[in-house]
Amino acid sequence: MDETVIREVAQLIVEAKGRTAALTGAGISVESGIPDFRSPGGLWERFNPMEYATIDAFESDPGKVWQMLRELSRVVTEARPNPAHRALARLEELDLLSGIVTQNIDNLHQAAGSKNVIEFHGNGARLRCLLCGHMEDARAAEARFATEFPPLCPYCKVALKPDVVLFGEAIPEDAGREAMRLVQRAAVLLVVGTSALVAPASYMPIVARKMGAALVEVNLEDTMLTRDYARYVLRGKAGEILPRLVAAVEAQRSAAGPA
Ligand code: NAD
Repeated sequence: MDETVIREVAQLIVEAKGRTAALTGAGISVESGIPDFRSPGGLWERFNPMEYATIDAFESDPGKVWQMLRELSRVVTEARPNPAHRALARLEELDLLSGIVTQNIDNLHQAAGSKNVIEFHGNGARLRCLLCGHMEDARAAEARFATEFPPLCPYCKVALKPDVVLFGEAIPEDAGREAMRLVQRAAVLLVVGTSALVAPASYMPIVARKMGAALVEVNLEDTMLTRDYARYVLRGKAGEILPRLVAAVEAQRSAAGPA
């Protein structure tokens, strides 16, 4: 990736004075060891998401879906933030990033130190009863796996569901509203590691673009945004590109002297 382009995007971010937001997808966590839907040989080759990650599958056979959830949870529990997560946290610390809308359920942005994280698809660390709304820490339920699998609601005795949005479920109202507000106010939107195929998250870059924001795509490959929507395409691994971008931002800031 050409350093000139990195410097141009860094300048855009500095000039946006905090009106930069990020939309992240599974790709940002691949370097932390969590496979995206495209990674070869990963979890998703054994568990087709359209068969296992749907609300219909959960309602008709929660035990089957929990086989996948148990493996996903193992992978997520072991994962640590990578340089891409840390770079976005640093950008927020510099008052140059207003927030992150993440489609991920892995908590890695928060673990890296990001504060304003909108969890568009929920968080796998919490479990919820679909009948009474009882919430439970996923780790507490995992501790019971030897005697109780799938984990049950202590009140209703139905299988608890991770507090994540499965295919066929609605986006949590607050998250949807806050995400849209963040994106609509952005002058720059960093779109990192998402195929932009899963709606309604995929609408956000398009809305941002229509509101006049500059889209900066960070991805290993072309997506449906690349040709018609992205002003800049930073091709490569997020864990390499984002730290370079933030280093360029910091260099421009210190060259400009105190604000
Ligand atoms: P996706 O799997 O459809 O696409 C991932 C994108 O990331 C691809 O375009 C790929 O080219 C890119 N990518 C892969 N590795 C990369 C890297 N190192 N650097 C930069 N880009 C990289 O993911 P999606 O668009 O997020 O949609 C899938 C849905 O499943 C979302 O809801 C997603 O959050 C969820 N999911 C979440 C996790 C997680 O929480 N970590 C993991 C898998 C899937």
